[in-house]
Amino acid sequence: MGGGRFYGPDFELLEERDPELARVLLDEVERVRGGVQLIASENLTSPAVLAALGSALSDKYAEGYPGNRYYGGCEVVDRAERLAVRRARELFGADHANVQPHSGSSANLAAYAALLQPGDRMLAMALQHGGHLTHGSRANFSGRWFDVVSYGVRRDTELIDYDEVRDLALRHQPKVIVCGATSYPRLIDFGVLRGIADEVGAWLLADAAHPMGLMAAGVIPSAVPYADVVTFTTHKTLRGPRGGAILCTDELAGRIDRAVFPFTQGGPMMHAVAAKAVAFGEAMRPEFAAYARQVIVNARALCDALAAEGMRPVTGGTDTHLALLDVRGLGVTGAEAESRCAAAGITLNRSAIPYDPEPPGVTSGVRVGTPCVTTQGFGPADLEKVGALIGRAVREPEKIAEVGDEVRTLPVIRQAYLRQY
Ligand code: PLP
Repeated sequence: MGGGRFYGPDFELLEERDPELARVLLDEVERVRGGVQLIASENLTSPAVLAALGSALSDKYAEGYPGNRYYGGCEVVDRAERLAVRRARELFGADHANVQPHSGSSANLAAYAALLQPGDRMLAMALQHGGHLTHGSRANFSGRWFDVVSYGVRRDTELIDYDEVRDLALRHQPKVIVCGATSYPRLIDFGVLRGIADEVGAWLLADAAHPMGLMAAGVIPSAVPYADVVTFTTHKTLRGPRGGAILCTDELAGRIDRAVFPFTQGGPMMHAVAAKAVAFGEAMRPEFAAYARQVIVNARALCDALAAEGMRPVTGGTDTHLALLDVRGLGVTGAEAESRCAAAGITLNRSAIPYDPEPPGVTSGVRVGTPCVTTQGFGPADLEKVGALIGRAVREPEKIAEVGDEVRTLPVIRQAYLRQY
């Protein structure tokens, strides 16, 4: 296996001290490099981000904020957090940034804690229509602790029904309107939602976990100028470390900071904060804008290729890094399509489509995304081939081994195998 991230002196030490765990790390690299990774919420971080994650900053306790910590010895890690905050504000044009949330879910928990009391009402997108668990699912704290009214997409267009959002907002007077989704392939009209929030005196919270990298690059419209609070993950299209962050207006800065610490978290993970700073720095570069543009071009190419194979793109296509496909036309469920692709070395996930008659564990759809493959250097022609291979894997399960061989010998996979990413 040529060059790569796990062949430095630190890795050799790990192999010597803990060969069992070292083998797990190597096997995961092999898994990623040996197949096609189409999970829309994943990406492959740069060696610089990984270096920050594997650094001495992991050891430091730093409850509080730069210049106001509850532990001594924080003067060095303060610099990392100040850098991350400054870069996040600059990158997204935000008044205020909190870079401590451990994940997207933690960011949403803190944002709700800043804006709502238990029992308060919020209006958010239904999970079955593309929303996230933290947008009011009964299985999640959000659905248990708040009075959640859900909006969805129209049956005919499968697009967000802004008239319904407005009607529900006027009728239920929510304190917060949440927008943003997990499996919605189209742009969200933040301007319209801002207008609705103003009409009913609600806060507008945009959960941009998925498209934040595309917003950072300026290739899709940003939620920041419209929303009072923007939560996001740093590990999806943004290509940073696993983690969360929150942007908000000056007015809400104190409330958001207190909601993160001490209300919902203890000590921040300073290695992750440092890695977020690295990722924000990388996202400011012109190469990242080119990457983000390519992510969308690739997603369209893949979506078109899958449509040609008989899968129906929900909403008719995509504007972003992901596409949602109704696979019923091929006579399979989402779960069957997922497992057949997995057997051929193509990793994607089953996903409910709007008005799905199947239960969440089965579903009628699959979700695909292009952040990982674009990082690996795939172009639209490669994704056309991948689309055709997915079609064959799903339609002809008896030939999955053959398809798997073709996946492993895709020229782009062989090249990606040797790349640093
Ligand atoms: N919000 C949205 C819209 C998401 O898609 C996700 C994750 O997929 C999250 C929040 C939660 O992020 P995490 O898994 O880091 O908690």
